[in-house]
Order: sequence, then structure tokens, then C-alpha cells
Amino acid sequence: MALLEVDSLKIAFELTGGKRLKAVNGISFSLDEGETLALVGESGSGKTTAALSLMRLLPKNAVIDGGEIRYKQRDVLTAPEGMIQKLRWKEIAMIFQGAMNALNPVLTIEKQMVEAILLHETVSNEAAYARAEMLMRRVEIDPKRLKQYPHQFSGGMRQRVMIAMALACEPKIVIGDEPTTALDVMVQAQIFELLESLKKEMGLSMILITHDLSILGDICDKVAVMYAGEIVESGSVEAIYEDARHPYTQKLLAAYPIIGKKRGLPDFIPGQPLDMTKPVQGCAFYSRCHKAMPICLSRPPLRTVEGAHQFLCHLEGEA
Ligand code: SF4
Repeated sequence: MALLEVDSLKIAFELTGGKRLKAVNGISFSLDEGETLALVGESGSGKTTAALSLMRLLPKNAVIDGGEIRYKQRDVLTAPEGMIQKLRWKEIAMIFQGAMNALNPVLTIEKQMVEAILLHETVSNEAAYARAEMLMRRVEIDPKRLKQYPHQFSGGMRQRVMIAMALACEPKIVIGDEPTTALDVMVQAQIFELLESLKKEMGLSMILITHDLSILGDICDKVAVMYAGEIVESGSVEAIYEDARHPYTQKLLAAYPIIGKKRGLPDFIPGQPLDMTKPVQGCAFYSRCHKAMPICLSRPPLRTVEGAHQFLCHLEGEA
């Protein structure tokens, strides 16, 4: 039985002037214990909205238009607030984008970490301090630095602190929302190495949100590629890297160099993302697709390549 199941989830935002923006349009995926899923796509594809819904952290103007989220078979969307309070951070935790904005600049790391533990768990102050020290060691930072403020850490160190904060209540699932944005390539690699070792050591399940398919190799088990609120291709990381079928996935793969893979010059995806306040006719990627055909103005079918490898397209699919 999957730890987390998302089934046909639809989320819209109510905008001023009576407009509605359909951010997530019927996505389904599951996550097993110890598994890592990457949600991949460009800004506005709906991946962060989908992730926030798993912890019921959506903004007030968000509306669930349909579907279900089940964590350990319990319905997350209809659960009472008391249960959700227990689920947040203790069962599912999030590493937010941009550590400098997520950390309070006027409080020491110690204060922020200890407060987070005391807020969610019934432990003594001493036990909370001891756990904060242990967490700092776990993310390979000297616990003496707990007394310091966020601005005294480098970007990579701050991101390690954010990872430690996410682990503070020993969750089962950690969601990383672009956890290495704005870090240089070397530091990105170190953060991913750290996440991978924590995943193994603590038996964590993870959902990693990213726009960059090239960084997922060693850490992810499976990938769901999102475009305009839909999952347009999903499968094992090997299936996506070696046998991508959807034109959008193929373009995403060509946009970044992948370590150990021979590719030509980086490609780019022409055009602009869809205006998701307007109804979509046919394939959402039509206006940007280099393989578009007249039939693409009608809704594309979901095709299965093999096992769990699926893609949403009128093409039979060439790798
Ligand atoms: Fe391109 Fe048509 Fe496939 Fe859409 S359905 S991705 S437009 S080929």
C-alpha cells in the first residue's frame, strides 16, 4: 500500500474580477516508503501548488475542484484541522525555496529550530536543544553554529539548516521545493548528496520539485513531468532519461547538460507558458510543440510505453 496517494487532483485559484486559474488539472501519483519522486516542470506548471496541497498549506484563494489525497489511507483534504496539525512537520515536512526568506533573520538558528520542535512535540527544553545539536551534526554543520544568525551562513549552509529544520520532527516524507535554487553547481551537488544519504539513513520518502531534469540522476526513483497543471509524462528515472516520449520532456532534457550523457548544444523551448485562466482546447503544449499536428487540437490520449511509463500525446512516441 502506498504511503501517499494523489488521485485526479484538481486545484484552481479564484482571482479578482471573477477569473479562475486552473493550476492543477487532474493529476495522479503515489509515493511508497523510502521512494523519491521528482515533480518536474517550468514555473507555473502547478508543481508547487500540488506539493502545498499535500500539507494543506494552499493560499486562501485556492479551491480544490476535485480529486483525493490519501496519506496512510487517511483522506487529507477532508481531515479535521487537528489531524492536519499533527500531519504537518511530524509526518510531512517541507524544505522551502530560498533559505534566506524562509529563515527569520533576527533569531538565531538555535531559537528557530528549538521553537519548531517545541511547537510540534511534547519534549523538554533540554531534549529540544539536544535534538537541534544532533540535527546540525546530521547536516554536517558544527552544532556550535546554532548560536549564529542566518546571515552568518553561506547559501549552501543555510540550505543545510533548512534541511535540518525540515527533519526536526522526524517526518516520513520530506518535500524539497527547488531545494538548490540559486546555489552554484558544486553546492547543489553537495546538497543532493546530503539528501540522498539522509534518505538512506532515515528511510525517508521524498518529493523533489525542480525545473531541472539533469540533477535527479542518483537521488530519484521516479519522475512526473508537469506542464500546464497536468502530468504529461511519468515513469522511472531511467525511462525518462533514456526513453522520454513526450515532446516537452524531450525539450526539457535537451535544455540542460546531463553528467555522463553525450548531448548536443543545450536546446530551449520556444513560446510562453499557457494562460491558465483560459480554457484549453486539445493539447496544452500545442502552441510550443515542434511536433504539433492538426489532431493535437483535440484532447491527447494517455499512452503506456511499458509498466508505469506513460505519456499524454497524440504521437505514438519516438524516443
Ligand atoms: Fe505535441 Fe501534439 Fe503531442 Fe501535444 S499532442 S505534445 S502538440 S505532438
